[in-house]
Amino acid sequence: MKYIEPHGHMVSRTTADYKSMALAGCVAISEPAFWAGYDRSAVQGFHDYFSQLTQYEPARAAKFGIEHYCWLCINPKEGDDPGFAREVISIIPEFISHTNVLGIGEIGLNKNTKNELAIFEEQVALAVKYDQLILVHTPHLEDKLKGTRLIMDAIEANGNVSPGRVLIDHVEEHTVKEVMDRGYWAGMTLYPDTKCTAQRAADIIEMYGTQQIWMNSACDWGISDPLAVPKARMELKHRGHSEDIIHKLTFDNPFTFLSQSSNFTLAE
Ligand SMILES: [Zn+2]
Repeated sequence: MKYIEPHGHMVSRTTADYKSMALAGCVAISEPAFWAGYDRSAVQGFHDYFSQLTQYEPARAAKFGIEHYCWLCINPKEGDDPGFAREVISIIPEFISHTNVLGIGEIGLNKNTKNELAIFEEQVALAVKYDQLILVHTPHLEDKLKGTRLIMDAIEANGNVSPGRVLIDHVEEHTVKEVMDRGYWAGMTLYPDTKCTAQRAADIIEMYGTQQIWMNSACDWGISDPLAVPKARMELKHRGHSEDIIHKLTFDNPFTFLSQSSNFTLAE
């Protein structure tokens, strides 16, 4: 059964991972821009990264029949340095017309600082200016609920963003309902041990339903699994969920959200 990996950091992955994902049924990947594990020392570092996301990764994915899409931004962690962040934001328009760009992301908050929030608001405005979708990173652990609310409040304060064009990722049991109730799409990020496991994701779906929600693996440079989505499908199947429900969660839902960008051209 085919699936979409809607949030995968393939720059952290080997070519063998592309192959494994293709064998597991992956037909498209969307890759948000994120923190590299270290702070870049110059805006040129982001110039190279955006080139990698818009040119190199699509070619690498295509070798395995996978369509590659991406998102551009300065991540919340480096967004805490507003002077530097604004330099990075100023080069995003150079890349935004690439045919694999779906929107601005993953923007959001890391430690819920004033600087992070200011840069988040400026990138929401950038998305509005260029009519782009938005993909949001929410903070971890004790900062998550407060940060998720700050993020939704800031988007609504902008006044020009439809919540249906925003995906709020890394939801957990205590944030998913409010995200959905306010009209946003929700993303569950599956990790092998910490954060949301396949079992917790299945519990969340059983409690809150299958509307406006997707599952992704992140598959970043940390302890993560590029096959987390197909493994979650097995968990759902094991629990007796139908093929239709599993297909909706891992193909139709990301397809519907991402298709709001005219650059997303995957055949149904
Ligand atoms: Zn991410």
